[in-house]
Order: sequence, then structure tokens, then C-alpha cells
Amino acid sequence: MWDILSPLLKEIHGELTDELKYQKLKHEVKDCRELIERLAAKAKLNPLSVEFSQHLDKHDKLSYLRDEFNIPKSRDVIPNDVVALKPNESSIYFCGNSLGLMPKRVKHLVNQELDVWAASGVNGHFTHPYNRPWLSIEDTVVEKTAEIVGAKPIEIAIMNTLTSNLHLLMASFYTPTKHRNKVLMEAKAFPSNQYAVESQIKFHGYDPATTLITVNSPPGEYTINLDDILNTIEREGSSISLILFSGVHYYSGQFFKLKKITAAAQKKGCVVGFDLCHAVGNVVLKLHKWNVDFAAWCSYKYLNSGPGGIAGIFIHEKHAHDFNRPRFAGWWGSDRRSRFQMDKPFNPIPGAGGFQVSNPSVLNTVSLLGSLDVFSKTSMVQLRSKSILLTGYLDYLLDKQLNGLGYKLITPRDPHQRGCQISLVYDEDKLDKVIKGLMKHGAVVDERSPDCIRIAPNPMYNSFSEVFRFVKALKSIMEELGFKFEAKK
Ligand SMILES: *Cc1c(COP(=O)(O)O)cnc(C)c1O
Repeated sequence: MWDILSPLLKEIHGELTDELKYQKLKHEVKDCRELIERLAAKAKLNPLSVEFSQHLDKHDKLSYLRDEFNIPKSRDVIPNDVVALKPNESSIYFCGNSLGLMPKRVKHLVNQELDVWAASGVNGHFTHPYNRPWLSIEDTVVEKTAEIVGAKPIEIAIMNTLTSNLHLLMASFYTPTKHRNKVLMEAKAFPSNQYAVESQIKFHGYDPATTLITVNSPPGEYTINLDDILNTIEREGSSISLILFSGVHYYSGQFFKLKKITAAAQKKGCVVGFDLCHAVGNVVLKLHKWNVDFAAWCSYKYLNSGPGGIAGIFIHEKHAHDFNRPRFAGWWGSDRRSRFQMDKPFNPIPGAGGFQVSNPSVLNTVSLLGSLDVFSKTSMVQLRSKSILLTGYLDYLLDKQLNGLGYKLITPRDPHQRGCQISLVYDEDKLDKVIKGLMKHGAVVDERSPDCIRIAPNPMYNSFSEVFRFVKALKSIMEELGFKFEAKK
């Protein structure tokens, strides 16, 4: 994306490194709509024209990454009772927030492991023709993951799945006492997280009705004010044991201010952890620098590791040598040298590695590796910069071409308070028709009942032309449903 943004940023600041450009973008681009119009003016194009979308694609330096992925065809992504308008065309896949697309190299890697298994059986643990002995298979993905979340390798472990990991982390980091036993979450957190937290509270003998507290959005709104979060921490902090927020909210798409929440929580003596399912691979994270205590994420959304893929955890280096916390242990968390000496006591690996329980699924691990190799071709800062523009362009076109036609946009307009996802809320009786209409146009979005569609253009494999086609399709669907567009005054 630098090609398209660079001239603007260069005009103001001269030559910059990627990180500095991102910092400028972060501090200076408050409104994508203004940015889009400036870019169009510079190109002497109408910002609403198809030519402008093609112009943005032409200057997209990350566009080559699309070729790393299998893009589903229109005909393959629709239910049997819907006829696609263009069955052979690639679908417009805006659903990477639910399941990321499959990197082509994954099949190759998984097949290699199947071959090794077939040819050498148990020996694959020790000698491996591709230099990935299964005994230390997790070593292939730890450093690359650390890079993506802004952590040190000692702070990362790749293991299990998200909700199981939340339980393991809470076993260690939720240690309620008589006067400090509450858990603070955002209201309407992902159901699995609520179930996990409530069951942990009960496990410790407390009542979720009084022990679990939440921060709500103002009535009729969907996003939560930072001030309300900070005030709650200030007011209740001394009785809060654990703060467990999501990084990017799965429904509204709001990107919370993790650094500020962490600082406020720790000032009050609370432990702070984040669920980063919708943040990892989507936004720039600096978990080490922000001093976050712990975090967990699944890897099948923006990390494209495949359905039910292996998940990840972060535990801050400051806890790496703290072996006094309770923990639910397993042999994979024990020192590698004595792991197979079954008469030896548990000897935890320092850092996140010491929280591993079982030997990891090799097939799932190399599936993740295939995707991380694609991430290694670029950087989160570059991806995020394209993402801000790509989603900003969607926001712009929705605003100009549909202007609330039958929906309410519930995601923050500020590009720095959201990731790539934009959520639209429809009247409940319209939702199904909108989704079916989109399918006919070969567009895949995520439906959240009862009334929401979540649209997530992914900077790794989506283009500006797809955003253009998507908005055009949505407009024609709404007009078919009898809505009349009125331009904004
Ligand atoms: C996707 C997601 C989950 C899914 O949990 P699994 O344990 O992977 O099934 C949980 N919480 C949040 C916030 C999510 O976005």
C-alpha cells in the first residue's frame, strides 16, 4: 500500500521507514473518508468510480499476496437453493474474520507430514527429512507468532484451542481472595468467554451474578466508551482480581485501547488478560511493550490456520520465572531434557512454554506454519496500513452509495478504533434477504443472528475492486427490496 500512501506521507514528512509511516498514519489519519478523497483528487479520478478502485489495486504493493491463497469460486460458496449470478467467478470473500482462507502452501506442508508419518512412523519425532522433528514441532511457529503479536519468543506458546487455553490461563491468573475476587469483562462478550469466566467463578465458590461485572455501551449504542472502562476500573479496581477484555470485539468490531486498559488495571493491582481472537493478524499489537499480563487467541480467523486450528497464548516475560502461581500442568510444559524420564517431577519450562500440556497436533501446527510463512513476506505494519485504507474505502462507499439504506453501521468510524471489520445491523426481517442477495452476487459475509452482518475485507487477499463490487451489489439488493437511496446533504 505504500505506493499509494507514500506520496502523501512523503509530501509531509520526507522519506520514512515502514514503522514511522505507520505511526504517521496512526496519528494523522483520523478520517478515512477525507484520505480517500485526497487520494482520488491526486489521481484525478472520481472517488466513486470503478476506475478509482482499479487505481488503488494497481498501486497496492501487497496485492501479490492474494496469489498465496485459494479463493473460493462463487458457485462453491452458496447454498443449493441459490443461483449465483456468475458461478465461475471468484467469490468476494469478506469472511476471514470467521474462517481465514487457505494458504496454498498449507496443503504441501500437511502432505509432507503425512508422507513422513507414512514412511517413518514414530521416527518422525526425531529425524525428519524437512527438518521439522515432531518432538519440537512448536519451535517452527513460536518466533513467527511472537513477531505478529509484538512479543518475545519466551512469551509465546502454541497449544490447544482458544477456550481451553482461557481456562488454563485463568487457572493461573485468576486467583480470587475474599476482598479481591471480581472479574471485569466487556458486556456482550463472545458467549464462549462468558461461559468460561462464569464457570471459573463458580469453580472458586463465588456467584457470577455478583462477581462478574461488565462495562456496557451507552443505551442504544454498540461501542463502549474508553472513559466508561477506565472509570469502572478506577471505581471497582480494588475488588477486581482479573480484567479479561477482548482486543477487537467480535460483534461490533471495536478495537479497544489495550495499552490504556492495561495501565489503568495494573495501577489498581488487577491482573489483565486479553482475548485476541479478532485482533491477532488484524491489528498491530505490542503485547510485551504494553505490559499485558497474558493473552490468548485462536488462529483460524485472521491467522488462516484452518478450521479448529491450533491456538496461541502470551504470558508476559515478567511472569516467566514465577513458578508459584497455581497451574494445570502436563508433560509438554516440563523441561525438554527430562520430559521422557517418567520418574522426574514436573520441572516447568520458563515462560509460556511451561503452560503447554500435551504434545501438539503436528498437522495443525504445520497448517499454521504455512500461513505464518505468508505473514513473514510482509509485516503487520504494512498489512494494517493497507487494511486501514481498504476498510476506509468500504466505509466511504457505504456512506456515499448507501447512506444507511436499511441498516445501521455499528462499528467505530475512527479507523484506529476498529480492525478490518465493519458490522451492519438490519431489521430482523431483512437480514435473510440481504444475505441471500449477497450470495447471488458471490459475496460471502458473516451473519450474526438476529440482525447483523459482519464484513471483513482482508488486506492479505482482498482487493479494492472487490469492495467496489460488493457495495454495488448491496445497493442493488436494497433497491430490489424497495429502499430508495437519498444522497447525503
Ligand atoms: C472465535 C472466538 C472464540 C472461539 O473459541 P474456540 O475455543 O476457538 O472454539 C472464542 N472467543 C472469541 C472472542 C472468539 O472470537
